[in-house]
Amino acid sequence: MTSVFCGIDIGGTKCSVALVDEQGRIVDKILTREHTGRQEAELVALVVSLVHELLQRNNLRESQLPGIGIGFAGHIRYRDGVVITTSNLQGFQGYPLREAFQEHFTVPVILDNDTNAQAWGEYRFGAGRGYDDMVFLTISTGIGAGIIIGGRLYRGTTGTAGEFGHTIVAPGSDLVCTCGNRGCLMAVASGLALPRLFEKKTEAGKKSRLSGLPGFDPGKVDGRILKKGLDMEDPVSREIILDCGYYMGIGLYNIFQALNPPLIVLGGGLIHWGDLYLDKIRSTFYSLAGNMLYDPIKITVSEIIGEAGVTGAAALTMK
Ligand SMILES: [Zn+2]
Repeated sequence: MTSVFCGIDIGGTKCSVALVDEQGRIVDKILTREHTGRQEAELVALVVSLVHELLQRNNLRESQLPGIGIGFAGHIRYRDGVVITTSNLQGFQGYPLREAFQEHFTVPVILDNDTNAQAWGEYRFGAGRGYDDMVFLTISTGIGAGIIIGGRLYRGTTGTAGEFGHTIVAPGSDLVCTCGNRGCLMAVASGLALPRLFEKKTEAGKKSRLSGLPGFDPGKVDGRILKKGLDMEDPVSREIILDCGYYMGIGLYNIFQALNPPLIVLGGGLIHWGDLYLDKIRSTFYSLAGNMLYDPIKITVSEIIGEAGVTGAAALTMK
């Protein structure tokens, strides 16, 4: 029979457990939201039971897997599998998550940050096929990157390489990041920043067509609502999307100068803003890079949208 791989994606709102084939296709999957609000050990026990359920209903034994790959939404110290921080789930700081999972399995457990897992999935099965070096950038509630150099994930000393969301692109900004610094890319261009960006526009006297929508809450502005605004030709939505694209363009320029990759892949929810947004990212990037760009750099979007987390987690167990 063909090989099958198991991936677990533990996010702030959703947790997926899936079996994936050698081509990165989902064979079977269980999605739960029951993992939130649980103690660490309870969450682990729940996820382990889902893995067992998935194996059982596919007539598989754990020993047929090369390992269990886990992507977790937080900073992971890769060498010992300890969670350093997570802003998406309660608790977990300093928690030995890999060890906690390993106690339940005989095959090796590989734990990494969810963005690294996604980057690896993109490299193996998506837009990164055929490249040795690439940077994958996820732009959703937060912003993060996975860096692949010479066909390997580059994790840095601690395991937190690729935290591009905390690179500073607007030091004079009054927008404060979750890390406490001002003008981080995440503070000016992520999903988390959108309610504040909207508020700033309306404070400056700009009128949004979204305000007339029934049940509209400016405190809950997200990527989806702004996409709707764009479709409604709302000038404020358009401006925010262009501003976010501008700062992302600066972010990509910084990545280019630091790493000179041949490929940057963009993933995450905000890429659904489409061409207006992506064109702004590219045009900002190219205007900054100018004649320093000797070789072409491909800036493209993820090819495994939606299942990237769990597919990437499974890919962590592949040779
Ligand atoms: Zn920050």
